[in-house]
This record gives sequence, structure tokens and C-alpha cells, in this order.
Amino acid sequence: MADQDATAAIRQAAERIAAAGQSPPRAAPDPVNLPMIRHWTQAMGDTNPVYTDAAAAASVHGHLVAPPAMVQVWTMRGLRPAPGAAGDSGDPLGLMSAVLDDAGFTSVVATNSEQEYYRYLRPGEQLTVRTSLEGVTGPKRTALGEGWFVTTRSTWYAGDEAVAAMRFRVLKFRPAAPKGTVGDVLRPVVTADTAFFWDGTARGELRIQRCGGCGALRHPPGPMCPDCGADKPEYVLAAGTGEVYSYVVHHHPPVPGRQVPFVIALVQLTEGVRMVGELLGADPDKVSIGLPVRAEFVRVDSGLTLPAWRENPR
Ligand code: ZN
Repeated sequence: MADQDATAAIRQAAERIAAAGQSPPRAAPDPVNLPMIRHWTQAMGDTNPVYTDAAAAASVHGHLVAPPAMVQVWTMRGLRPAPGAAGDSGDPLGLMSAVLDDAGFTSVVATNSEQEYYRYLRPGEQLTVRTSLEGVTGPKRTALGEGWFVTTRSTWYAGDEAVAAMRFRVLKFRPAAPKGTVGDVLRPVVTADTAFFWDGTARGELRIQRCGGCGALRHPPGPMCPDCGADKPEYVLAAGTGEVYSYVVHHHPPVPGRQVPFVIALVQLTEGVRMVGELLGADPDKVSIGLPVRAEFVRVDSGLTLPAWRENPR
């Protein structure tokens, strides 16, 4: 009975928040600007010159333009948003999340994000964003636990003109197992795109996705090649060697099934792609960038084998 009441209360809250329509406009802290575009394109490895080279942009667009996929960047709240910042009080995702938190659906994972771009933005434009609640469905049983899918639609405006929109879906769920269970581990979400990888680790194989079109290797795996657009990817077997490209030493918080501190390394494989994994048996003080490593496989149980790394003295 209590569950039915909670379900009804969630549905009512969803209807009320959806009926309120679009949130008030929330202004981007800065106008569209070249320094942020430069950082973003470097981080993403996007070398299209129309974003950063005025001469190249002039011949194509007449002026510099911002990468369309940056649209969400402009209205990010920042690391420490001021409490009660303008427009925050009416944020539908925040309001709906609070309702679900109260009902025990405290964990969140983003599941879908679809963006539409209506035109290019140029440096100097000042954006606002408005968000509405499109729908809330549940409760649904998922691999992560019971939860609700919350879908919002955000629209970005320059003045009164809509310039881009995004449909964004999160799963708010009640974790299936209590946190901190001894011996339990955080499990990866296995999807149609990643199943081949986990099938591989179970057999002691490190598999790298290879594009069925242009042959490019990539990791993590995805449904479609960012270079040529081909779907139907294949895979190749990695030699299992590489070197530490970067790493972190994890001290806190405690992680189920692990003793702190431990080292998580981003490894540059001999084949060129990078993979994340625990660096086993490592003294955190002796890890360094460039450390040669080889792959190992840590069998957790019949359903999960994790790839990991160990120093591989030359
Ligand atoms: Zn390709």
C-alpha cells in the first residue's frame, strides 16, 4: 500500500511540474567566447579550423562560429553554483529529482541525450536556457535497480530566437544492493555496444572495437564511427600491453570490494587506444606516467571479469 501511495505521489508531482511548462530563462554566465571554444576543441580533439581560426572561418561562415555540440557548455551552472541562483528554483529536473530522492530513488544515471541545432552560434552571443519536464515513466525494473525515467526538454535562446534544443533522460533509481557490501564491486552497465568487450574479458581477451567501415580503432566502444559514420563495428584482440598515460590514486571515499588507497590508470595501449583500469599491486608512490604495463583479468564471478593492469618491467 505504501508503495502504491508513493507511486501515486510521484505521478502527481510529475503532472504538476510538467503542467508548469518551461522554467524561467536562466542566463549563461558568459557570452559565447573563443577561449572556452579553444579549450573545448582541444579537449575533444576537434581540429575544424572554423571554430578557432578567424581566416578559415571567414571563408566558410563569414565569422568564427562555436561548435554546435558545445551548446550545453554555455549554460553550465559551474562547480559551485550560488544557492538560489536566478532560474534555479523552477528547474524541472531539480524539482522532480527532489521528489524521487524523497521516495528513495536517490541514484542517478543519464541514459539519453539528443540535441538539435537550429543554427551556428558566434562569439559574443548571450544565451539563456529554459527547461520543461516532458515525462516521467515508472516504476521500472532495471539492471541497476527499480527506478523512474525522467525526460526533460531544454531550449537555448539568443534573445527570443531558439537556437538549439536537447531532450535529456535520466534514470533515478533505488540502488539494487546496499552500498558498501563486503566483496561486492561496482558493476559496469553492459549494453549492446559493450557486450563484446565483457564477453572478451571473461575469456581473457582484451578486445578493441574496430570500425567496420574505415577500420579505425576506438575505446570505449560506441554504436557508430565518429570518423566515417559506419555502424556494425568489429573488434580486434589487443596484445595486452601499454603504458600509463595518466593515473589517480584513490584514497577516499571507500569503494565496495576495494582497499584504499588504490591506483586507477588510464593506459595507452600499444594499439593506440586508451583504457581505464586498476593498476594491481602498485605502490602509489612509484607509479609514473610512461610506466609499462600488461593486462590482467580479475574474475569477480560468472557474470563479470574486470580488465586490470600490472607493471610490466621492460
Ligand atoms: Zn569508421
